[in-house]
Amino acid sequence: MIAIYPGTFDPVTNGHINIIKRSLKIFDSIIIGVAKNLQKKPLFSDSERLMMIEKALVEKNVKGCKVEIFEGLLVDFVKKHNSKIIIRGLRAISDFEFELQMAFMNRELDKSIEMLFLMPSIKYSFLSSSIVKNVFFHNGCIKEMVPSIVAKMMKEKVKGEKR
Ligand code: ADP
Repeated sequence: MIAIYPGTFDPVTNGHINIIKRSLKIFDSIIIGVAKNLQKKPLFSDSERLMMIEKALVEKNVKGCKVEIFEGLLVDFVKKHNSKIIIRGLRAISDFEFELQMAFMNRELDKSIEMLFLMPSIKYSFLSSSIVKNVFFHNGCIKEMVPSIVAKMMKEKVKGEKR
C-alpha cells in the first residue's frame, strides 16, 4: 500500500526523516509531497526542497520513497496516486489543533481518505524547520538536526544571498 506524506519541508529535518522511516514500517512505499506553499514564503524553492529530500534519503539510506511537488488540494494529490492514506507527524501538543482541523477538513472533502499520525523519537519532538532556520541564521550549529546535505545547502544559500 502507498501512503502520502505531505509537507513544506523548508528544509527537511531529521524529524521528517524519522517519520518517513516509521511510515515505511507500515507501508510498501511513501510518496513525499512537497507543497509549493508560497504563502509561507519558503527559503528554498520547491525544486530545491525536492532535490534536498532526494539527496537526504540517499544519505540516510532510506529506500522506498518517491518525492513529488504538488499544489492545490492535498486530497486531489492523494487521489491522483490512488492512495487512501495521508501521514502527518505529531510533535508536541501544539501540533494537535492545526492537525485536527486539517484532518476534519480533508475528511469533509473526501471521506474515503484516512489521516494517520505518527510520533517521532523524543529527541526530534521539539524540532521544526523554522527552529533549524532560526538557529542557523543566528550562527548556531544545526548538525544534529538535519541531514548533512541540508546543512551544506543552507550554507550555500546564505553565500548566494550575500553576493
Ligand atoms: P507543513 O507546512 O505542512 O506543516 P512541515 O514540513 O512543517 O509542513 O511538516 C510536515 C509534516 O511533518 C507535519 O505533519 C509536521 O507535523 C511533521 N513534522 C515536522 N517536523 C517534525 C518532527 N520534528 N517530528 C515529527 N513530525 C514532524
